[in-house]
Amino acid sequence: MKIFISADIEGVSGVVHGEHTSRDGREHDYARRLMTEEVNACIQGALEAGAEKIVVNDSHGTMRNLYHEQLQTKAELILGSPKKLAMMEGIDADFDAVLFVGYHTKMGDNGILNHTFNGRVVRSIKINGVELGEFGLNALVAGHFGVPVIFVSGCNLLAVEAAKCVPNIHQAVVKQTISRTTALNVHPAEARALIKEGTKKALQNYEAIQPFTMAPPYAVQVTFLHTGLADAVEILPIVTRVDPLTISFTTDNVLASYQLIRSAIMMAASIS
Ligand SMILES: [Zn+2]
Repeated sequence: MKIFISADIEGVSGVVHGEHTSRDGREHDYARRLMTEEVNACIQGALEAGAEKIVVNDSHGTMRNLYHEQLQTKAELILGSPKKLAMMEGIDADFDAVLFVGYHTKMGDNGILNHTFNGRVVRSIKINGVELGEFGLNALVAGHFGVPVIFVSGCNLLAVEAAKCVPNIHQAVVKQTISRTTALNVHPAEARALIKEGTKKALQNYEAIQPFTMAPPYAVQVTFLHTGLADAVEILPIVTRVDPLTISFTTDNVLASYQLIRSAIMMAASIS
């Protein structure tokens, strides 16, 4: 059994603020330790369920967050950026299942530290009229390769968002959102136990969960937080300006759509 883990930080128990999540945050190194141990719990659960190969993709910010030396020795780690598939770099059709650790809700919804890829750039992303967050967009990439996302950890509201895409997904709810920067957290040790047990349970019956897919063509709309961001992205020849804040494009390939979304955000971020 081959397992792919995409690890973010905002959904980790105890992480509630930019001081935890941003590179220069005073509590960032502490949050990185919490993140590393939640990923370790997922790896341990996967090993106990019979996983033979485990690839972890560090998926937050710089994508250099996990403490490699502290990581469970049986997993391989993708560190760094840029990478063509960003939060899903490393996934291919050889994997049997995907697990998301430390995920969060999309921009504009309630949920601790909600945002979609870049909180200073993106207001919303829609594919074929359906608004998706990082969970849904990354699950579509896995779905392109025929691989199901079978487990996610994060806050109680992310659990609702994830189940809209993958109704029978296994979950570890490690905190309850109170506000965008406040949560009721379970103890880190309890979070790790929930993640380990949830991973084991998910892998015992992973074939029951279908890959998340949408039918082509993929009509993508990205709405930005101000018009200057859309101005920058409108330079791409494939892009049409729909309204002052929104660009759109259409592809027949979900990977191309994902890569164009990521490229558009990088362009916009360069002037934000
Ligand atoms: Zn993140």
